[in-house]
Amino acid sequence: MSVLEKVSSKAVIALEEKHGAHNYHPLPVVLKRGEGVFVWDVEGKKYYDFLSAYSAVNQGHCHPKIVGAMTEQAQTLTLTSRAFYNDMLGKFEKYATETFHYDKLLPMNTGAEAVETALKICRKWAYEEKGIPENKAQIIVCKNNFHGRTTTIISFSNDPVGRKNFGPYTEGFLKIEYDNLNALKEALENNVNVAGFLVEPIQGEAGVFVPSEGYLKSAKALCEKHNVLFIADEVQTGIARTGRLLATCGNCSCPDKHCSGKPEVKADILILGKALSGGAYPVSAVLANDAIMGVIRPGNHGSTFGGNPIAAAVGMAALEVVKDEKLAENAFELGELFRKELNSFIPTCPVIHKVRGKGLLNAILVNDTEDSSTAWDICMALKENGLLAKPTHGNIIRFAPPLVITKEQLMDCVRIIKDTLTQFAN
Ligand SMILES: *Cc1c(COP(=O)(O)O)cnc(C)c1O
Repeated sequence: MSVLEKVSSKAVIALEEKHGAHNYHPLPVVLKRGEGVFVWDVEGKKYYDFLSAYSAVNQGHCHPKIVGAMTEQAQTLTLTSRAFYNDMLGKFEKYATETFHYDKLLPMNTGAEAVETALKICRKWAYEEKGIPENKAQIIVCKNNFHGRTTTIISFSNDPVGRKNFGPYTEGFLKIEYDNLNALKEALENNVNVAGFLVEPIQGEAGVFVPSEGYLKSAKALCEKHNVLFIADEVQTGIARTGRLLATCGNCSCPDKHCSGKPEVKADILILGKALSGGAYPVSAVLANDAIMGVIRPGNHGSTFGGNPIAAAVGMAALEVVKDEKLAENAFELGELFRKELNSFIPTCPVIHKVRGKGLLNAILVNDTEDSSTAWDICMALKENGLLAKPTHGNIIRFAPPLVITKEQLMDCVRIIKDTLTQFAN
C-alpha cells in the first residue's frame, strides 16, 4: 500500500508545505478523483469544478475517449524524439490544421513554450520576409497580459509578483493598453520595426476582461495595413471555451457553429494549449500558413517531447470530443444562461456588482478592494457548499466549468453561487 493512500487533506497539505516549493497558493482542498464536471477530495466530498484547470479540462475530467486514446497509445509507443518519424504526429497535424484552417502546425508541450515558439517564428519572419534589420524586431504586447512564465514572457508582463527579481529581461517588446485601438495605431505608426502584435482575445488571468465589440477585427486590419503579424494567444480562450471553437471566431455563424475558415479574425499565428489535450497530457501547438511557418527549418526549433505519439493521439481525441459533443454550442448556450441568471440576481446582492464573460469563461466582480480577502473567503464558502473556484486579482472570481456541463448541473451551480453570496450579504 502506498504511503499516500488513506491520508487526510491536512496531511497531504503538510507534505507539500514541507517538501514542495511554495510557488502556488492553493485553496485548501486535496483532490483525488475526477469525472466530467466533478472532482472528489481525499475525504470523499464531491465538488463541481468551476476552474477546469484554467480551461485545460474543457472536455471534462478523465474523458473516456481521451483517456482511451492515451492509454492505448501509451501501451504502443510513447516517445521517439523527432530524430525519427512516428506514425501519429502527421495524422494529428492533418486533423488539427483542417480543424483550424491553417497550412501547418508546430507541436510543443506547454502553453508558455507555444508562446515562445510563436515569438521566434514572428521574429524570424520579420528578418527573412519583412526585411527588418537584424536584432531590431519589436513585438507589441498588451498591458495586464498573461502568456506564461518563461524569462522572455515575464519580460513583457506587468505583474510585479511574477516579474520582480527575475531580470535582466528580454528586449524587443512594446507594451500598449489592451482594448485600445488608438494605442495600437500609434505603436504601429511610430515604430518602423514592428514584427507582430501578440494578444489574448479575452484576457483570462487579468480577470476575464472582454474587449469592446470589433476590437480584434480592427486590430487585425491595422496589423495588415502595416504588414505586422497578428498573433492570437488562445491557450485559455480556444477550444470551445468562449462558445465558439476559437474566441477569434467572433460571431461567425458556421452551420455547426464551428469555425468555417471565415472567422471574425483569422490570426496569422494561432497559439493553442491547455484544452488541446483535454487536460490529460501537456499538448500545445502553434499554427500558421506556409508563408510564415516556412521560415522554420531543421535545427531552428524543437522539443524532445513536442509532437510525441501520446500527445498526438490525445490531441486528436480531445478535438474530436469538442466536435462530437458540440461543446462550443453548449458553452455558448449555457454561458448566456449563466450570465442571465447572475445579472438578474446582482441587484438583490450587495456582495458583487458585475458578471462578465463569453461562453463559459466568466467572472464576477466582488464589491471590495483588490487587497481584501472577500473573494478568497467567498471561494472558501463555495468550497464548503460543493463548488471549486479561485479568485484572480484579489476581488475577481473566475467561473469556468468543464464544457460538458448540463443545463441541470449549471442551474444547480447557479443556486450554490447565489446561496453562498447571499450567505455573505448577511
Ligand atoms: C495558461 C496560459 C498560458 C501558459 O500556459 P502553460 O501551459 O501554463 O505554460 C499562456 N497563455 C495564456 C493565455 C494562458 O492562459
